[in-house]
Formats: sequence, C-alpha cells, structure tokens
Amino acid sequence: MARRFSTSQMHNFKLIRPFFISLCLVIFLFIIAISGYLFQHINTQMLERLREQAISYTGLIHYIKSWNTFYEYIYVEKKQGVESSEYLRKMGITPDVSTKDGRTFTIRNHAIVISEISKRSEQQDGVKFRITSLAPISSTNAPDAFERDGLVAFTSGRREFYQLINNQSQPLYRYMTPLYVEPSCLECHKSSNYQLGNVIGAVSLSIPARQQVQEAKWSRILIMLSALLSIGLFFAIVYLLTWRLAKTLGIAQQQLKRMATTDELTGLNNRRQIMGRLDEEFQRSQRYDEPLCLISLDIDHFKNINDTYGHPIGDIVLQKVAERLHHAVRSYDVVGRVGGEEFLVVAPATGHSEALALSERIIVAISCKAVEGVPGEVYVTASAGVAIVGPDDEQVEAVLKRADEALYRAKTNGRNQVA
Ligand code: GH3
Ligand code: MG
Ligand code: MG
Repeated sequence: MARRFSTSQMHNFKLIRPFFISLCLVIFLFIIAISGYLFQHINTQMLERLREQAISYTGLIHYIKSWNTFYEYIYVEKKQGVESSEYLRKMGITPDVSTKDGRTFTIRNHAIVISEISKRSEQQDGVKFRITSLAPISSTNAPDAFERDGLVAFTSGRREFYQLINNQSQPLYRYMTPLYVEPSCLECHKSSNYQLGNVIGAVSLSIPARQQVQEAKWSRILIMLSALLSIGLFFAIVYLLTWRLAKTLGIAQQQLKRMATTDELTGLNNRRQIMGRLDEEFQRSQRYDEPLCLISLDIDHFKNINDTYGHPIGDIVLQKVAERLHHAVRSYDVVGRVGGEEFLVVAPATGHSEALALSERIIVAISCKAVEGVPGEVYVTASAGVAIVGPDDEQVEAVLKRADEALYRAKTNGRNQVA
C-alpha cells in the first residue's frame, strides 16, 4: 500500500528540512573525513611494509659486504661461466691465481659478490640490489637518476632515500642507504680523495611492489564502497526518522488544535470555537442574505441532578445530553458547549419554521428516554431559546441576546419547551 502524507506533514517536513540537510551534511563530512584518513593510512602502511622489507635486505647486504671486506678478497674457482674481473685488472690487481694441482681461482670483491647475489635474488623474487657511487670504480655501478638524487641527499646528511615508482606495468619500491668511507675502502678507492666518514656510495634496492599496490588499491575501493554505502544508509535512516518526526509533530499539532477547540467533557466545540464559528456563519448569512438560526439550550434543574446523584453522574448526564444533541442536529449545524450545562446550536440556512422544528427535535431527543450509563432511571429535560438573524441585525451579540431572552422565557413558562 502506498504511503500517503498529509499536507501538515509535508509542511512540517519542509520546516525541519534545514535540520535534515545539516544532519546529512555533518554525516557526509564525517564519513568523508574517516575515509580520507583510512585512504592515507593504507598508503602509509603499504609504504611502511615495503620499507621494512627493504631495511632487512639492506641489513643482509651490509653483512655480506663487511664479511667480504674482512677477507679483503674471496677467491672462487674459475669454472665454466666464471670470468675474471676486468676492472681489478685495470686497477693493477691480478685477479687470477693458479694452484699446484692446475686449477685457477679468481678474485671476487664485495661489489662483484653483491652483484652476483642480486642476479640470483632477481631471478628468485624480483628484488634487485647493488652498490652504486657517484665515483664508481666500475661504470656498471654508475647511478641512475633516482640513485644520483639519493647520493646527493646522503652527502647533505640524509640516511635513507626511498620512493614508490608507481609504474602501471611494474610498480617498484626503490630504497637506498649510504655507505661511508672505512679504512678498508681506501685501498681500492685511493684515487678518489675520500676522507674517512665521507659518503662513498650507497646500497640501492628495487623491490617489485605490484602485489602491495594492488592490495592497497582494493582496500581503497572497499573503503570507497563502504563510505558510499554508509552515506546512503545514514541518509535513508535520517530521512526516515525525519519523516517520522514530521508525522509525530503533525499528530501532536492536531491534538493540540483539537484540545484548543474541543470541550474536554463532551467532545463538542468549546465556547471559543463555537463563538468563532458563529461569527463566520453570521458574516456568511449577511453576505449571501441567508437566514441563520441560533438555539440557546440549557438543561433544566441540572443542579438537582448533581445534588441527587453526585457530580460524577452529573458529568455522565452532560455527556449523554451532548451525544443526543449532536445526533439531533443536521450535519451542517454547529454545536458547542458554552457553559456548565448550557449549549449553543448554530444552524445555517435555517428559517423560522425549520428552526422551531429543529429545536423541538432537540428537546424531544434530550428528554425522550432515561439517560444511559447511570444507575437508576434518570430523565433530563432542556429548554431552548431560538433567535433568527434578520436583515436589521448588524451585531451577532444582539442575536445571541435574543436567543438568551427566549431561553429565559422558556424557563419561566415551565421549562422543557422551546421559545
Ligand atoms: P435551571 O433549570 O434554572 O437552569 O436550573 P439549573 O439547576 O439547571 O441551573 P443552575 O444555574 O442553578 O445550576 C447549574 C448547575 O450545573 C450548577 C453547577 O454545579 C452545575 N454544573 C456546571 N458545570 C458542571 C459540570 O461540568 N459538571 C457537573 N456535574 N455539573 C456542572
Ligand atoms: Mg444554566
Ligand atoms: Mg440549567
């Protein structure tokens, strides 16, 4: 079944719309801020993981280098595929030695050892590393653009240099740490005027980061989807709650309005409301030159009922009289309780004879049977004073006065009658 909203509900909703929009905006900004933080956090975490991996590789490379430097040179047997280092020869070092049993061994210094291990590591898991320098002994160790930037940064005191090169096909995490001049370095690097403690070069690493970048990308997509979903969900909830608030407000307003216009005991119009309606009907009858009838009603000897049966029973009698009155009038007549046991009927488009007939009907309806809902047989009667608005009537008060005077006549003439 389609939900329908009343105009007052729509009106209330429009009133609380700024509140709804502000709340949605706050929720939106809050979720966006959290998502932004998580986005950043994921990036930082990924870079931190790559850095930790790079640091452990670098540590190992340093151990290998210091182990190799400790022995100065390592000799390996020149089997098939093992070449002598041309650069050592150029430096005046004879790389090869022969043993008595006819085998040949050749020198492996730390740079060559590291480069050979790197080749294996690259084949195994793609991680490449090497030693590079701004003044390399071998031109194969000359730095590329990234490494040059790193080496320059190290000479001005930095101790770490890294960057994620987010190449679409193969994202790479590049990491460098400086190497400082030690006494053992000066033998090979004596031509470069190095001082102890100077930056002599750097360990440079490239770690394939495709998996980490992919993972981070999926995490970001997930965060974005959750953010959109949360925003949608929150908006829907706030919208629903706002509608309900508008509905509750509408109901409360209606209740308040009913309370302001209705007599609590009988449910008829209260004095203020019936007088307002009388004014409206009076204006209308003047404008359209239509007859208007006023019936002033008063329960006879009501004090006796209170005195005999008690106030609560008196209340029930009042309610029942109001019910009978309500059923006796026509749908377009307006009925109200104007005092304790006094009522007023405003009957539009009602001339003299119709007014008398209506009043008689009311009097009979009130007195025709015992009052229901009270112990014993309680009968009530009422007297009515009728006044018709004439062409000379300019003030409604004058007509009211005539109705009251007629009521007084009905009372003095013996009650339970219309005057
Ligand atoms: P009359 O025929 O001349 O109108 O006599 P009456 O006794 O009806 O008139 P009177 O004005 O002397 O008394 C009206 C009584 O109505 C007095 C008052 O206690 C009672 N009354 C007024 N309002 C209420 C009410 O809300 N509940 C009850 N139970 N009694 C009420
Ligand atoms: Mg009275
Ligand atoms: Mg009375």
